[in-house]
Amino acid sequence: MPNLASGKREGHAAEVLSVDEQIELEICARGELEQLRKEAATEEVDPQAVAVDVAIGRLSRLDSMQMEEVRKDASRRRNQRIHELQEALRRMDEGDYGLCEGCGQWIAYARLEQRPEAILCGDCAR
Ligand SMILES: [Zn+2]
Repeated sequence: MPNLASGKREGHAAEVLSVDEQIELEICARGELEQLRKEAATEEVDPQAVAVDVAIGRLSRLDSMQMEEVRKDASRRRNQRIHELQEALRRMDEGDYGLCEGCGQWIAYARLEQRPEAILCGDCAR
């Protein structure tokens, strides 16, 4: 399969998403959401988080604290994304999915395929 993820096809779609495309995006969003939730669940028992308290020596402790920050940051981003995907699924339910919140035009399928949770079209997101 050729790689179409160049971003060149982002932008405004001429018309509303087809039913097939909507189903495809919903499956995609649900799959991603499930994956993120699994990751979040795995991380709760991550031994690295525990290691912060048992690390000996100033340097290793600083390292651990830094790693803890990175981990927290990743976890924050993941939670944000879970929230966005949930919102996207809600919009799919309500039928206003795929409309750009910036300009009110349809978001191109190629963009939604990359980011099913997108609420802005390629132009407005820039
Ligand atoms: Zn827009």
